[in-house]
Amino acid sequence: MTIRIEATADRQFRTNSYLVEDEVTRDAVVIDANLEPQLMVDLVRKQKANVKAILLTHTDVDHVGGLSALLEAFGPIPVAVHETERHVVAEGRPLRREFGATTEPIENVVSLVEGETFRAGSLTFEVLHTPGHSPGGVTLKIGDNLFTGDALFAGSIGRSDFSNSNAEELLLGINTKLLSQPDDRIVYSGHGPATTIGRERRTNPFLT
Ligand SMILES: [Zn+2]
Repeated sequence: MTIRIEATADRQFRTNSYLVEDEVTRDAVVIDANLEPQLMVDLVRKQKANVKAILLTHTDVDHVGGLSALLEAFGPIPVAVHETERHVVAEGRPLRREFGATTEPIENVVSLVEGETFRAGSLTFEVLHTPGHSPGGVTLKIGDNLFTGDALFAGSIGRSDFSNSNAEELLLGINTKLLSQPDDRIVYSGHGPATTIGRERRTNPFLT
């Protein structure tokens, strides 16, 4: 299987949305729905990708704000999220005490479960629960690629100063689920450029 990965980033938060596509079948998923969904809609049309699902690394507004527009463009495909944050998208409730609701209620919500796989057409993802930035933060793994959301960035880690964040959980998840992976695994973060597990293990100042 050959996987093609492309990113779009919104201008306000530089939040990445990823298009992950099987180059043979054209089956695809979108990972996270940033605040400029039209960039992703245009990319999907250019690639003639067949988007089967939208996967969420977590539900902060900059990662789900584009959901309604994506669903309007792609049809009522499933939106997959960790069960701990399911209410945020299924009921349109706030993720954080500090902020308001992040999205309209979404009808077709399915669960991402730690240790289980999530299938979308010809694509299969492994689900790794990496909470701490938010309770239902997940990393999605396909082949050598890890989509870490706001858990791990190139040279940094996610914020853990919100009321429902947990710095210890964040570091525990990074150490046990991510740094336990081989050096050459590619890390696609919620913000900023891609990196590798080896580079972060050696140089990330928050992990040494
Ligand atoms: Zn973010």
